[in-house]
Amino acid sequence: MTYAPLLEWIDTQQDNMLSEVLALSEINSGSANIPGIEKVIDRLSDFASSLGAEEERLELPPRTDVLDNGEVVESESGPLLRLTKWPNANRRILLVGHSDTVYPKDHSFQHCTKLDENTINGPGVADMKGGIVVMLTALQALERSPYAGNIGWQVIINPDEEIGSFASAQHLDQAARAADVGMIFEPALADGTLAGARKGSGNFTLVAHGRAAHAGREHHLGRNAIAALARVISLLDGLNGQMDGVTINVAKLTGGGPNNVVPDFALCRFNIRVPSPEGQSWAEKQLQQIIDDVSQADGISLELHGSFGRQPKVMDKAHQQLFSLLKSCGDDLGLSTEAKATGGCCDGNNLAAAGLANIDTLGVRGGAIHSTDEFLLIDSLSERAKLSALLLFKLAAGEASWPDRTTTA
Ligand SMILES: [Zn+2]
Repeated sequence: MTYAPLLEWIDTQQDNMLSEVLALSEINSGSANIPGIEKVIDRLSDFASSLGAEEERLELPPRTDVLDNGEVVESESGPLLRLTKWPNANRRILLVGHSDTVYPKDHSFQHCTKLDENTINGPGVADMKGGIVVMLTALQALERSPYAGNIGWQVIINPDEEIGSFASAQHLDQAARAADVGMIFEPALADGTLAGARKGSGNFTLVAHGRAAHAGREHHLGRNAIAALARVISLLDGLNGQMDGVTINVAKLTGGGPNNVVPDFALCRFNIRVPSPEGQSWAEKQLQQIIDDVSQADGISLELHGSFGRQPKVMDKAHQQLFSLLKSCGDDLGLSTEAKATGGCCDGNNLAAAGLANIDTLGVRGGAIHSTDEFLLIDSLSERAKLSALLLFKLAAGEASWPDRTTTA
């Protein structure tokens, strides 16, 4: 079976793709910039119009944040864009991208610059405006092919990936349960290396309350919240190295006030990474134990916020099947599809937690993401669109077998 003429069409789209990425990247869409996110999805909806998919814009529930003073507040997210085509097909693919970036509206990094013939520097060019353009171009190739209609597909563009996908998690979960293969368009490394297994990640905020007192006259009546939290932190940090691959990073500590007052408030934030479900339950148990122990102290209460928003993505049989299918596509195109485990996480963790085998770095080749040096390698636009299109063709043509549902769900 030769797909060459279908793939050649993608080559003709290279300039188009580049100008679309530049236009999208010049629109600021930091996770908190809701009008910016709306502009990005307006533009994506235009770009995707030839696909003839059903389009929905979904409002998301507010997410809860804990401020540095311990106050719990709700914050809004932008809308989620969902495109659905051929919903009654037997087999379905879920394609996921995110409209948000890590650069807020007032960040200095707002424009694209051409660094050399093949390199563009700009906010979100790789993570992941370039990736979304790759995704939609691959879908255009599928819909132009004789295999259109053989498989159903759904695109989800969520507005909150860079802040943990809390507001969109339910939609990702629901869509993943109804699909057979997941494709996410986070960037690959500059040399094309993909992400394989991913650690799970939990973000937590711990608030300690004690009792204020005059540090000189009535020190004995005070209960020091900072001292209590310091005990927790020291125990938490001591967990590092105790369980294979589990790491705890205490990232922030705040609280207290004048030198002559026993502090009645302190707050710390920490992140836990886990390589496996076993590692996660071990860490959860240790954390609870530490909190219970330190809470025993007279006059001290501890309040834990947060959870493992992202479960570990394990390279189980279903993921191996999907990666070997991608390898056959890469071999046809002369591209390496080598994958490496990473401690970072993304929506690929969410899809895997819902039992959906997925490859989550099908976007452009690039690097230095989340920094002002973020770059995209221009020739990877059509290259990566061909890789994803070929995967779609092989599945839609019935040439490849579909992976099982994963066992981790
Ligand atoms: Zn990303």
